[in-house]
Amino acid sequence: MQLFDLSGRVAVVTGGNGGIGLGMAKGMAAAGATIVVAGRDAAKNSAAVKELVAAGGKAGAIPVDVLEEDSCRALIDQTMKAHGRLDILVNNAGMSIRKQPEQYTRAEWHTVLDSNLTSAFLCSQAAYPAMKQRGGKIINIGSMMSIFGAPFATAYAASKGGMVQMTKSLATAWAKDNIQVNAILPGWIDTALTKRAREQVQGLHDSVLKRTPAARWGVPDDFAGIAVFLAAPASDFVTGATIAVDGGYSSLA
Ligand code: NDP
Repeated sequence: MQLFDLSGRVAVVTGGNGGIGLGMAKGMAAAGATIVVAGRDAAKNSAAVKELVAAGGKAGAIPVDVLEEDSCRALIDQTMKAHGRLDILVNNAGMSIRKQPEQYTRAEWHTVLDSNLTSAFLCSQAAYPAMKQRGGKIINIGSMMSIFGAPFATAYAASKGGMVQMTKSLATAWAKDNIQVNAILPGWIDTALTKRAREQVQGLHDSVLKRTPAARWGVPDDFAGIAVFLAAPASDFVTGATIAVDGGYSSLA
């Protein structure tokens, strides 16, 4: 269906080499997009490309460290050199340092904010000149911590709350250029990130199960459909929106 067809489009996915990023990449590749897998870990990058290509998709990798401004800019430059266009940017790379707020160093605070929020701003800014040419889609990954807080997640929640407000501002700034900017808020998803969280936060696995109306943890493949929708012409009048993909977690009082 043309509304959901991504043939000929080029999508950069930061952190696309695993977890939620790869789930979204798989969806967009199946809809016809060429995927640029952009993570730090070369082995994970090539394994993800292999998986996408084995499933019949088009994909390549460009290594990036989103903590470095030059690396963010080089990612977009190299994408343009390799493919001549950039249609979709998914700002998905992210991490957390789980500590009580009083134990945070300033450097730790900045690492979380820079990995999750500043990186998304820098990649979006770098992508703007390319996207302006024929319109584009930016998909930012927030979290339940965009709307809730947790004692172990002060910096992470600040970064993910900021992601939602940045999404709205970019959406209003670039609507005139036919660039739509939206945010996805994942619930609790079974990935490497939350494997660590479950090791560090006692009782987390069961409390998530109990609190999630769908009565399960999410999986990366749950993000394939929403990524296609937000990357495709189907969402051309959707901008500045925040969409929870959480099995009902954020709807339960
Ligand atoms: P993963 O740990 O599986 O994925 C994180 C990805 O981010 C990896 O691909 C990693 O690549 C990349 N990454 C981290 N730091 C950098 C960096 N400095 N430069 C480049 N890439 C980087 O976790 P998830 O899939 O769970 O997380 C993906 C996104 O979803 C994150 O933004 C996370 O905050 C968000 N999220 C996850 C939830 C969950 O329950 N899992 C819930 C809500 C939000 P590499 O290893 O190569 O560095």
